[in-house]
Amino acid sequence: MAKKTVADIDVKGKKVLMRCDFNVPQDAKGNITSDDRIVKALPTIKNILERGGALILMSHLGRTEGQRDEKFTLAPVAKRLSEMLGKKVIFAGDCIGADVKAKAKALKSGDCMLLENLRFHKEETIKDKAAKEDVQLRKAKDDFAKQLADLADIYVDDAFGTAHRDNASMYTVPQAMKGKPRVIGFLVEKELKFLGDTISNPEKPFVAILGGAKVSDKIGVIENLIGKVDRIIIGGAMAYTFLKSRGKAIGNSLCEDDFMDKALQLLDHAADANCQVVLPPDHAVVRKLEPNAEHRIAVGDIDMGWQAVDIGPMAAKIYAKNITDAKTIIWNGPMGVFEMPPFDKGTKAIALAVAEATDKGARSVIGGGDSASAIEKLGLQDRISHISTGGGASLELLEGKKFKAIEILDDK
Ligand code: AMP
Repeated sequence: MAKKTVADIDVKGKKVLMRCDFNVPQDAKGNITSDDRIVKALPTIKNILERGGALILMSHLGRTEGQRDEKFTLAPVAKRLSEMLGKKVIFAGDCIGADVKAKAKALKSGDCMLLENLRFHKEETIKDKAAKEDVQLRKAKDDFAKQLADLADIYVDDAFGTAHRDNASMYTVPQAMKGKPRVIGFLVEKELKFLGDTISNPEKPFVAILGGAKVSDKIGVIENLIGKVDRIIIGGAMAYTFLKSRGKAIGNSLCEDDFMDKALQLLDHAADANCQVVLPPDHAVVRKLEPNAEHRIAVGDIDMGWQAVDIGPMAAKIYAKNITDAKTIIWNGPMGVFEMPPFDKGTKAIALAVAEATDKGARSVIGGGDSASAIEKLGLQDRISHISTGGGASLELLEGKKFKAIEILDDK
């Protein structure tokens, strides 16, 4: 059932606690190198402030070991957000405690406050499974969540990047706010609509493009997509586990031998379901993976001593042809070691083919992470229907999983 959004509730004069994903990339000096995640949260933030809500924002940033670490303070995010909103964002020095409580109480309609990094407290990331088995952990997580929950009248989840986690701020806080409005923000609404609807109501032909390092990471996705998609195009290192399972020679290419049986099983399963699996017929291969490594194109089998680092030109052509007529496309994972040109050629060719199909009316959805950065590097982002902000979360949606952090929120 569809979830209530911020637009469905009255926020005027209310304190609104909103979970964002402000886990922005930073350089060694702590400067924000991409503010995309802050920009993506703006529609919900502005909507709440303009309608007279008093906003308390919370997020995590980086890997903190559950204690204060100045390297990961959210202070630069508060500063950048202030610039974007053209108004002061109050920065709380912590996310819980008496001072935060007093600051939250003093907020007026239209005020905006950002709490300090949630992961400065180890309670934020205690897993529910661990908490179930250990009373002390359960109590610590509940107490932490209650302090956050008591700050506000309304809970909003707009953190798609962490939607698949059961962190205290994602699940235990809304649990503790039972009886108060608990809704999703516009970013989460958009992500669920694009990723969820695309899979449940695809216009055909429906093509999935999967790449990246490991088959083992994508088994759940492939299993869920067989029977739904017409074609699965496979590139990246994961292609070599499939090719080896079919008896091809793959030289020194990356391969997960433990998953060869599974790969073969998936290929059989796809054939039974009339789902075409497209594997690369040729490959860019190197003796040693290093910048400017000399490479050659191997057609079919790959000799020992050589490692595939990208799909070959023939593969790129065939893949593009298989994408051209698609009406629905989902893509997750690069076709090769795209960080190291010229081994980004295959990924670039696919990115262009997806953009061209979108120009012709296809709905295209790109999972976060590497494929998203490839699209952005090529400046093709405006020619894609939707680029997800959550790599892990988007993969779990493609696996058909439900998020308990979203399930707990109010239905329409
Ligand atoms: P993933 O995180 O699973 O999406 O994998 C992305 C990583 O896979 C990138 O860092 C790529 O460099 C790597 N990758 C893609 N193709 C290959 C390949 N043929 N050999 C080695 N690594 C690859």
